[in-house]
Amino acid sequence: MSSLRELDTPTFRLAVAQFDQAAEAMHLDPNLRERLKLPQRSLVVSIPVRMDDGRVEVFTGYRVQHDSSRGPSKGGIRYHPDVNLGEVAALAMWMTWKCALADLPYGGAKGGVAVTPRQLSRPELQRLTRRYAAEIFPLIGPDQDVPAPDVGTDAQVMAWIMDTYSQQVGYSVPGVVTGKPLSIGGSLGREEATGRGVVCVTHEALRHLKLDIRDTTVAVQGFGNVGSHTARIMHESGARVVAVSDVAGGIYNSHGLDIPALLAQYKGKGQPLTDMKLGERISNEELLQLDCTVLIPAALSEQITERNAAKLRCRILAEGANGPTTLEADRIVHDKGIFVIPDILANSGGVIVSYFEWVQDAQRFFWKATDIQDRLRDLMTSAFQRTLEFATTKRTSMRMAALMSGIDKVAQAHLHRGLYP
Ligand code: GLU
Repeated sequence: MSSLRELDTPTFRLAVAQFDQAAEAMHLDPNLRERLKLPQRSLVVSIPVRMDDGRVEVFTGYRVQHDSSRGPSKGGIRYHPDVNLGEVAALAMWMTWKCALADLPYGGAKGGVAVTPRQLSRPELQRLTRRYAAEIFPLIGPDQDVPAPDVGTDAQVMAWIMDTYSQQVGYSVPGVVTGKPLSIGGSLGREEATGRGVVCVTHEALRHLKLDIRDTTVAVQGFGNVGSHTARIMHESGARVVAVSDVAGGIYNSHGLDIPALLAQYKGKGQPLTDMKLGERISNEELLQLDCTVLIPAALSEQITERNAAKLRCRILAEGANGPTTLEADRIVHDKGIFVIPDILANSGGVIVSYFEWVQDAQRFFWKATDIQDRLRDLMTSAFQRTLEFATTKRTSMRMAALMSGIDKVAQAHLHRGLYP
């Protein structure tokens, strides 16, 4: 376990335990192992916000850079009441392996604020975001550390961060964040990118297992950015999406849900999933245990645990969320013979298109939607095939193969650069 008590939370323990397993299997240099278990830099900030009623409320925010040996650190910003230093540090570590696995010239970072964004008015959310951005200003920048959206944040939040940063330096710096609106240097295809990537690697897994997309049933837990785009693109690609859910619960239809109708009611009219007449109500727990070809957890971490892992009835587990499967559950899932597409591979489409956005911003030259989609597919397919080959030749799981490939690239960078001073 790490020596930093402040980091000791279940999510950080999960990230470190995964790292330890991979480090052990690959005989990683013990000196490097100690370093890579801990973040490079962690910043905790207090964010005083004038609320609409005149009171000042103080929120706690974080930015953690796990590693920057391969380039600027990269990772999202999460607004959620449960955000804490350990969770942000775990997510930052996963970003390091994710970027290395996809061959992006980035290290890993993550940020967050412990807040329930839905409870804030839009002006309050803007003031919170701007003050948070001002507090982490010394750490971020297009060559240093580049935030992006994550749970509870979106393109508008990125726009406020970009503006706050640009006001401080005195000129526009689009490359300081990714996942921005198109009008200020965002990229086509960024919003749907994580979902499109999940679908892409799921197609690869189906092909590998010789399963036909037309006979494929899919259950998606979580209906935020990742879950909703994944469900839509899965549906468009010919699969039958039989269940979707959000925090309040979900709906199920064995014939396949009418996803376009469902999206129109959910996003267009704000109707709760559980009120829709398109299927029968199910709980999140029931969704995870459905008999389906592909189960896609696309919500928060630690959803598949030792309590429910034995009850999973899917053929493929494609992890749209970060860290959805605990260590104990991972063993059970593996023993059941479920084909796992691990988070750092399955959900890397988001940061891949973030990278495209950052490159476009640096070049002041913007690509067509088809260029983005083709290049995303290209990078994701090759990361999947490399991981599969590694897992097959080294007789290990897809998760271990992905972690070991990512960690190895980071280790190479550290060894070549040497230890300063
Ligand atoms: N928040 C996303 C993730 O967990 C995207 C990060 C990024 O684009 O930098 O991968």
